[in-house]
Amino acid sequence: MSYQGPKGTNDLLPGESDKWQFIEETARLIFRDYQFNEIRTPIFEHYEVIARSVGDTTDIVSKEMYDFYDKGERHVTLRPEGTAPIVRSYIEHKLFGPEFAKPYKTYYMGPMFRYERPQKGRLRQFHQIGVEAFGSANPATDVETMAMALDFFKQLGIQKIRLVINSLGDQETRQNYRQALIDYLEPHEEELSGDSKRRLHENPLRVLDSKDKKDQLVVADAPSILDYLSETAKAHFEEVKAMLTALEIPFEVDKNMVRGLDYYTHTIFEIISDAPGMGAQSTVCAGGRYDRLVEELGGPETPGFGFALGIERVLLTLEAEEVVIPVLNEIDAYVVGLGEGTNVETLKVVQAIRNFGFSADRDYLNRKAKAQFKSADKANAKLVLTLGEEELAKGMINVKVMATREEKSVLLDEIYQQFDEIFDELLTEK
Ligand code: ATP
Ligand code: MG
Repeated sequence: MSYQGPKGTNDLLPGESDKWQFIEETARLIFRDYQFNEIRTPIFEHYEVIARSVGDTTDIVSKEMYDFYDKGERHVTLRPEGTAPIVRSYIEHKLFGPEFAKPYKTYYMGPMFRYERPQKGRLRQFHQIGVEAFGSANPATDVETMAMALDFFKQLGIQKIRLVINSLGDQETRQNYRQALIDYLEPHEEELSGDSKRRLHENPLRVLDSKDKKDQLVVADAPSILDYLSETAKAHFEEVKAMLTALEIPFEVDKNMVRGLDYYTHTIFEIISDAPGMGAQSTVCAGGRYDRLVEELGGPETPGFGFALGIERVLLTLEAEEVVIPVLNEIDAYVVGLGEGTNVETLKVVQAIRNFGFSADRDYLNRKAKAQFKSADKANAKLVLTLGEEELAKGMINVKVMATREEKSVLLDEIYQQFDEIFDELLTEK
């Protein structure tokens, strides 16, 4: 019997996980600069929380949910995205209260689950980093949040990306546009996929987001929502564009972009990678405004803006652009112990070094000197300490600086009492 991880999931092994940590750290640093703080929500939620916010007719809710009934007959689901859980948490903990900052800015990172057909950049357990800002209807919030996403990619060294925006307007806009879209689509009903036929009357905007090739042909000539924007919605979108221009941030408008979630209003955006080989998975970051979602989930009327980016796709982009991620691959000291008689003392030395706050490793297999030195080299040790049985008898240990090949004999007691000073002395000056 041999086991494999579930389809559409990955194990992140050392080497790979170092890159993930770098991406996560970069995000945390940038989010700090913009004053976003982390919320960690559970991996599973009540089914209703997701269905209500993301929308029953979306692919996510209608096809991709990892939902089940637990032993207490509660309908729960692994979270497919981060915004709905954060909004649930924002309302539950009354983070809209007067004691909290406004806008309330928060971020999250972690695994999400969607039952999809696995492909490159499309997994069943994937990972998102996302942010949400609650309580500001100011278009400046839209713009600085998009700018923050772009900063993140720039900081990572990713260059071949584009910001694409659109507006889905307000309720008035949606009502007018909905009818226009139905009027346009009805004569084409027979050409549409089964899913789109069903959605035509339920939720016609979803037809625009279809991944079906034939649907996409029909949709190409559909009326644009931008021609149906209410005065308020138009003003908001104009301000967003003006502010992007003021910050000298290049952008494109895609008048047919709708996004795969129902909760968006006004500004929506995607950051698309033009790096080679991204295929249909070229959207690395996506988000927008959701001014009705908090109310929809039972909270007070609160505007919101947020985005989510897929870590797996960020990694594919980094690879495609051949960006080298700095990975820490050296240790401060390697302790070579020669002869079984040195086993205990080698343990004491390596522990003493670690207790001084340095990274250290040793041999555990009683290997020959040559093999141990090879390990020290491989680990890029700055110092190699060698303890033979004769030295041990004299209470001494040999210390070698790998960069200069300089060697000296040191009292074991000195290592135990002042390794930090020895390390500084040997490695700083000269
Ligand atoms: P797509 O159109 O590619 O299916 P989506 O509209 O479903 O994307 P969102 O729900 O907006 O995506 O999620 C935001 C980001 O999360 C995406 O831009 C992508 O980077 C990432 N993402 C979404 N689904 C997956 C997945 N199954 N595997 C890996 N990354 C994903
Ligand atoms: Mg999707």
